Amino acid sequence: MVSAPSVVWRDSPGYEEARIGRVFNHRRPDRYPKGVVQPINVEEVASAVKLANQMNLRVSVRSGGHSWAAWSVRDEALLIDLGNLKCLELNESSGIVKASPSTTGRVLNEYLATKGKMFGSSDSPLVVHAFLEALLIIDTTLGGFLLQGGMGWNCKNWGWACERIVAVEVVTADGEILLCDKDNSSDLFWAARGAGPGFPAIVTSFYLEARNVFSNIMKSTFIWPLEQYKTIMDWTIDTTPKCDESIEVVCVSLRPDPTKEPVILSSFVTFQNSEEAATASLKLANDTRPPGAIMTSINEPSSLPLEYVGQDMANPKGFRYNSDNAYIDNNADAAEVLREAFTTLPEGTKTFALWFAMNPCSRRELPDMALSMQSDHYFALYTIWEDPKDDERCDSWLKNVMAKVERKSVGAYLGDSDFQVRRTRFWEDSQGKKLMEIRRKWDPRGTVCGFLDQGDKSGVNGLENRHEWHENSA
Ligand SMILES: Cc1cc2nc3c(=O)[nH]c(=O)nc-3n(C[C@H](O)[C@H](O)[C@H](O)COP(=O)(O)OP(=O)(O)OC[C@H]3O[C@@H](n4cnc5c(N)ncnc54)[C@H](O)[C@@H]3O)c2cc1C
Repeated sequence: MVSAPSVVWRDSPGYEEARIGRVFNHRRPDRYPKGVVQPINVEEVASAVKLANQMNLRVSVRSGGHSWAAWSVRDEALLIDLGNLKCLELNESSGIVKASPSTTGRVLNEYLATKGKMFGSSDSPLVVHAFLEALLIIDTTLGGFLLQGGMGWNCKNWGWACERIVAVEVVTADGEILLCDKDNSSDLFWAARGAGPGFPAIVTSFYLEARNVFSNIMKSTFIWPLEQYKTIMDWTIDTTPKCDESIEVVCVSLRPDPTKEPVILSSFVTFQNSEEAATASLKLANDTRPPGAIMTSINEPSSLPLEYVGQDMANPKGFRYNSDNAYIDNNADAAEVLREAFTTLPEGTKTFALWFAMNPCSRRELPDMALSMQSDHYFALYTIWEDPKDDERCDSWLKNVMAKVERKSVGAYLGDSDFQVRRTRFWEDSQGKKLMEIRRKWDPRGTVCGFLDQGDKSGVNGLENRHEWHENSA
């Protein structure tokens, strides 16, 4: 028998915790769902959708609450919070793992690590690590992360995390349960890889495959005074395509402590199968790094737990966040375009600017899926502060910087965007058009909330997929 999940209605006890308790960003949204349900299985998700349809309510979805702009919290909607829907099963013969959308990368990795012995006796003893690549090293939640594409570690070489999805189980806007893959409801499967919050159904399980392998993580990190910004950024950009495909490259400016002057850091992380191979991979960066570093860490052994600690430190819990991002045009002088962003970080905050190398992934033909926007240079700003009195200062800094950067961008990544603040392109033209058509086909009434634009008006129309500045400069 199918049980109906109980709804925590607005104004009833526990509502506020259910509304925002699982939202990562402590800058809480001023939006109030009619009620919140926390289903424990796919049938309860379907019941919740049917209930919403009977009551003429929209549904919003939350997997892990990591959306910076808190897309799951929508006025007058029924919020379906998937935090209690738990599933994590490895099919040992196929190597396909079925995971519920609220599974975090960390939990998935820990689970797969317990399977290491089994894999150790197979022909491919390192295959367990395959799940760590592309998909899972970052510790966010699968739901929103995979739907928007998923920029996991070494994305530039291993590709987008969503490329590892072989099927999705969904509940449609009518409350029907479907399994979608390349042969069944293939348009929904296409959309599940890059629609982000515009996916016109609710994913209740992902089926994910393994691929490449590695067993040795090693990195070299260099920190310079920010006065060397241009030299360091140019060198990092120039060195990236010369590195082998085991290496992920990032360049970050940050304040080591909110009261200190910012510094610039370049990090080269290699995923290899032996210490010798890892050392050889890092040699180029080690040998050619510009002089003047104030901190140098060469060929440091690393591990997933250590990397998670680093990630937690960069994105601390309990803070107020505002993020934005852009794919910088390959023809632009990226270091010059990003100069202001990297060198004027707001004082007294934990804000950081990130350049993430995407070449060569950005140069190859992607599989046929909604995700389609790419360039060699992924750039994101994470404005992080504690005190509400700094909201205005941090918002305006971000907005001013992005207003200039966006002119040299080809578009943006859904994951670090807020459609309430800035309109831009998120897909190539034909993929954007096709996605909006699929949305209208599968959800003609606009039951699933979709993209949260200014005033939450986009509904079944979805996003325009156009640069706002093109209109303004016309
Ligand atoms: C600390 C931190 C680190 C991050 N690091 C990275 C990173 O390295 N790489 C990267 O790519 N992104 C990263 N992000 C961005 C993050 O992946 C996105 O915000 C993503 O949306 C979070 O997924 P979620 O399920 O927690 O989001 P939620 O806030 O739960 O969901 C966001 C929206 O996605 C849609 N959605 C989510 N789940 C479903 C579902 N099951 N069915 C249908 N629609 C759904 C809904 O519209 C929902 O409102 C990071 C975010 C944080 C906070």
